[in-house]
Amino acid sequence: MSSTVEQIKARLSIDDVVGSYLKLEKAGLNFRARCPFHNEKTPSFFVSPSRQSYHCFGCNKGGDIFTFVQDIEGVDFLGALKILAERAGVEIVNDHRDGPRPNERLFQLMALATKFYQEALGKNQPVLAYLADRGIKTETQKHFQIGFAPDGWRQLHDFLLGQGFILNEMLETGMVIKAERTTGVRGEVYYDRFRSRIMFPLSDSAGRIVGFSGRIFPAGRSAEASAGPEVAKYVNSPQTFLFDKSRLLFGYDKAKVEMRRHDFAILVEGQVDLIMSHQAGLANTIAGSGTALSPEQITLIGRMTKNLIMAYDYDLAGLKASRRAITLAQGAGLNVKIAKLPAGQDPAEVIKKDPQDWLSAIKNSKHHIDFLIDALLAEGKTGLELSRLVNENVLPIIKALGKKMEQAHFVAKLSQLLGIGEEAIWSDLANLRLEPDSIVTNRPPTDQTLVSDTRSSAILNKIFGLIFWLESLPERAVDPNQLIDRLKEIIGPDSYQAEREVRIKKEGALVMEAEFFFQGSEKLQTEILELFNNLHLENLREQLREAMQALKKAEAVGDQLELDKWLKKCQAITLELNQYRK
Ligand SMILES: [Zn+2]
Repeated sequence: MSSTVEQIKARLSIDDVVGSYLKLEKAGLNFRARCPFHNEKTPSFFVSPSRQSYHCFGCNKGGDIFTFVQDIEGVDFLGALKILAERAGVEIVNDHRDGPRPNERLFQLMALATKFYQEALGKNQPVLAYLADRGIKTETQKHFQIGFAPDGWRQLHDFLLGQGFILNEMLETGMVIKAERTTGVRGEVYYDRFRSRIMFPLSDSAGRIVGFSGRIFPAGRSAEASAGPEVAKYVNSPQTFLFDKSRLLFGYDKAKVEMRRHDFAILVEGQVDLIMSHQAGLANTIAGSGTALSPEQITLIGRMTKNLIMAYDYDLAGLKASRRAITLAQGAGLNVKIAKLPAGQDPAEVIKKDPQDWLSAIKNSKHHIDFLIDALLAEGKTGLELSRLVNENVLPIIKALGKKMEQAHFVAKLSQLLGIGEEAIWSDLANLRLEPDSIVTNRPPTDQTLVSDTRSSAILNKIFGLIFWLESLPERAVDPNQLIDRLKEIIGPDSYQAEREVRIKKEGALVMEAEFFFQGSEKLQTEILELFNNLHLENLREQLREAMQALKKAEAVGDQLELDKWLKKCQAITLELNQYRK
């Protein structure tokens, strides 16, 4: 595996990889951008081609191409390896002596099952005719690897057995189930989870198949099987080691780049809606599971774009059901719009009739609060009843907007609509209580080990960055040992060791910062002198603060000896400080 990593690193540069996700600006020898991992207005995310690394000074995230892809794509190391290997044109070689990793086997099993279903689909004329009737073209079927699980109890089971997989692996991926009713049957009975179903593979963000959604076919089957239990129209893979539906967005692997390119994402409900929207040219479409959105799914969207268009078949009831998803998304800083579809039609039906209708529905999507107000009006409610509905449904969402400017826009609109003064609406808003997770928060995570309130700590960061940077250079304009000696003079050798140990953990980030500030500087000596002067000054100020405190304490207990001692100390420090200021 390590040789694969080296090969990939040799072929891909950090600025190319990061640059394919973010807009990079040149900043000296480095590049800078707005950080994709926290909200910010001024760029503090730096990419260093010479070090093949990146670092954000706002949220302290940093690393190489692998950690970057892991974080931005929301994949594990193997997922990032797959994405980057493909990009670099490097084949992933397994050099584990004990064979591939356990979950690598499970991914292989899912890939083979997908092929098995695809082959079965090719031989099944009625299913192909059905898909054509739904408007799904052959190339789209291939692109989404749609398949068919043939009728019968152990078709996939037997196929996988023939491919060398063991029963336990089939159970772990949820593809095979152990029978519950075994009365009168000797031994245990196992059978395929998906039988006589059109199979839609579900991929993780690296494009590996982790589960399936299976639609019953033919549709009449559920009625025929009256002897057995009710047959569900859709069956999905269960929660497994590979498949966690709350952390997955269907179609995300195919949509993520387009989401970033167009700077918006379209969220639909069903697999067929998703597939048809891609076919209609909107490859930035994703699907959740039902109308709910988990915080993890919202994070996935937010990495690619801050603009989300939801396209469900919305009536008032539908809006209520998705209110939590909307407020969660809004709370995470997403702008949520809603696309209006003809009543009772889902996106797949609209697209099949005329893809243009779908495109214009997306184009004419409205801010979700405007949409909600329109939906209330469409119910024909007036007067007090309308006011009550607005209070229940609209005000909580306006309050959750967080930004006063945006709130004011909708308060004005409601005031006009309801014929109520704006003051009254503002006071209703003020009295509302919100669920904590719906409030907009933009605070980046902070790293306590590095972030300190004292100015001297910030100066020490710079000085240690300089030292680490100089130590890493083959040719140095300044000897780092000079800096170390001067530092020991100011803060003492013991403090020097302690401060160095704290900062060695963040060496990469500090070096990058130093490189950014000092590389190619013609006044390096002057700048170093200034840094040490500032440090000395801050150090004196801190000493003075401590001495003053000790002085007060001595005064309080009436200890004359101590009082004299600290008074002298304070005077000495003040004198030194005054000399500095001249
Ligand atoms: Zn950041």
